[in-house]
Amino acid sequence: MRPARALIDLEALRHNYRLAREISGARALAVVKADAYGHGATRCAAALEDEADGFAVACIEEALELRYAGIRKPILLLEGFFEESELSLIDQHQLWCVVHAAWQVEAIERARLARPLQVWLKLDSGMHRVGLHPAEYRDAHARLLASGKVDKIVLMSHFARADELDCPRSEEQVALFEQARAGLQAEVSLRNSPAILGWPGIASDWVRPGIMLYGATPFEQDQAQAARLRPVMTLESKIISVRELPAGEPVGYGARFVAERPTRVGVVAMGYADGYPRHAATGTPIMVDGQMTRLIGRVSMDMLTVDLTDLPGAGLGSRVELWGRNVSASAVAYGCGSIPYQLFCNLKRVPRLYSGG
Ligand SMILES: *Cc1c(COP(=O)(O)O)cnc(C)c1O
Repeated sequence: MRPARALIDLEALRHNYRLAREISGARALAVVKADAYGHGATRCAAALEDEADGFAVACIEEALELRYAGIRKPILLLEGFFEESELSLIDQHQLWCVVHAAWQVEAIERARLARPLQVWLKLDSGMHRVGLHPAEYRDAHARLLASGKVDKIVLMSHFARADELDCPRSEEQVALFEQARAGLQAEVSLRNSPAILGWPGIASDWVRPGIMLYGATPFEQDQAQAARLRPVMTLESKIISVRELPAGEPVGYGARFVAERPTRVGVVAMGYADGYPRHAATGTPIMVDGQMTRLIGRVSMDMLTVDLTDLPGAGLGSRVELWGRNVSASAVAYGCGSIPYQLFCNLKRVPRLYSGG
């Protein structure tokens, strides 16, 4: 059997969830969209089901997957419904629903529902992607209340630059949010992972941790709260071949690496078809038998190569960690112009093995 696999530590997931709550002092919706950022949504939600205040996903397909797996806690649809016809499923499965556009307000006014909806009314406070314009926010709120179809409205917005710790934009967004919602008595939800970890002064009754649940930092630089996270996914494999190359010999496609000295090359069963980033460059950190070394040459579809020259004890069958407990997924990601979010979401083909469930 091919030795590539992703170990998922559900105890670490719970640790990170508790940390999000502890740091924020708020209720927390665990964001498990995109198959829990590649970690497996149903397994992750089940591991958090007893203690989570609720979950958040991108769309009804993801919410139904959780419901069918037996998840009973509240589930928020972060983009609400894409088509009016979804409202009957939202009603039937008692999903919470973001409303980010006027047409969604109108659809709710027209809807025939068995029970009142819980709506999270989203303001565009500067992200400029989705969300109601500040000038239409209070009117949308009033219409939803007057519709008789809604029994609770949480006021929400989303930050564009909370991962930039010296950037004033998040506080400007909060000021705009406060202005737009002045006089509306309701619970508020603003903070995503970087805002939970890095912006303790921003009040939020509900927080929406995503990447931090999975133990990866949203910041490029070191950050004290982020240092308390525990990596959930360890991507590992083994050395399946070893070559001794004299100086001057190239390794792999495009001869991107040429041995500067006699070099022992280890071939690892892991490639970009598994989600390891193809653009990771020579020098990217990688661990073999508990010792740090470097990636060399170009990552190919099913294999990649590492430098074993200074690891004489390593060889065929040695265990390799691509990221996880020892090798920071964020460091691998930022080193190749990516982010840990994308690395995790790209995971495929490798089996996921769970512990701590
Ligand atoms: C994905 C998402 C989150 C989680 O963001 P992280 O940076 O992963 O914490 C929170 N809120 C909304 C609206 C999202 O779409």
